[in-house]
Amino acid sequence: MDTETFQMTPALDAEIATAAEAMVSAASVVALTGAGLSVESGIPPFRGPGGLWTQHGEPPLDGYQRFLRDPAAAWRERLNPTEGWAMGLRDTLQAAKPNIGHRCLAALGELGHCDALITQNVDDLHQQVGQPGLLEIHGNHFWLRCLECHQRFDPAGFPIDEANLPPLCQDCGGIVKGDTVSFGEPIPPLVLRACYSAVERCDVMLVVGTSATVFPAAEFPMEVLRNGGTLIEVNPYPSELTEAASISLQGPGGAVLERLLHHVRAKSHPGGAA
Ligand SMILES: [Zn+2]
Repeated sequence: MDTETFQMTPALDAEIATAAEAMVSAASVVALTGAGLSVESGIPPFRGPGGLWTQHGEPPLDGYQRFLRDPAAAWRERLNPTEGWAMGLRDTLQAAKPNIGHRCLAALGELGHCDALITQNVDDLHQQVGQPGLLEIHGNHFWLRCLECHQRFDPAGFPIDEANLPPLCQDCGGIVKGDTVSFGEPIPPLVLRACYSAVERCDVMLVVGTSATVFPAAEFPMEVLRNGGTLIEVNPYPSELTEAASISLQGPGGAVLERLLHHVRAKSHPGGAA
């Protein structure tokens, strides 16, 4: 199901308007996004038919331990991938462009109706549209991070000397790694704390393109519901979240978010066209 072939129904549009009302009257809205949002950008999910790992093979489940054992070798593989999964991921992410869903979420942030956006995606697409309050809980494929002081670096400002691997942190001298949280690696504490504090503060959570079954993201929607907040789900098909969700909007992320932005704009400017 994609935005171009999808037919909006009056019933779904009315539910989207209800969701927009909840967002406009909220004290704080937090969005949580996952792989489903980027499918319309040409990034298949990792698993299942046509999945990245299904096509190219799975990355090692002890990727972080391998990095720590031999950071220079891991860096050579990052710079010149030889393993199928790494080449498949690199080519797919380099070709991907943000879609209408990413742009609508950034617009909601700019309007003050999305204070933080927690993404499980490492594809950089929220970054490319300048998402306000972006929290990349699994890191960013293109960015770098110091394992000692946890500082993150934009690769544009961090030249890599291939003769001196691994690169070291300019501030603390710690080993620098790709920012993506590898299998076996703990979530970096700074981003994890920022996520928990955004979730604590919010009274509406907008979940897009994920059933949020993977820890720690799985905790966030449940925490919002425990605090009496409203959970809005946007997924093309029913998911593990659907039963718990206060409002479940079934459709492709792009088409639903475009309508959601329209209703939020109309409701935040009373008298404007609905
Ligand atoms: Zn450092």
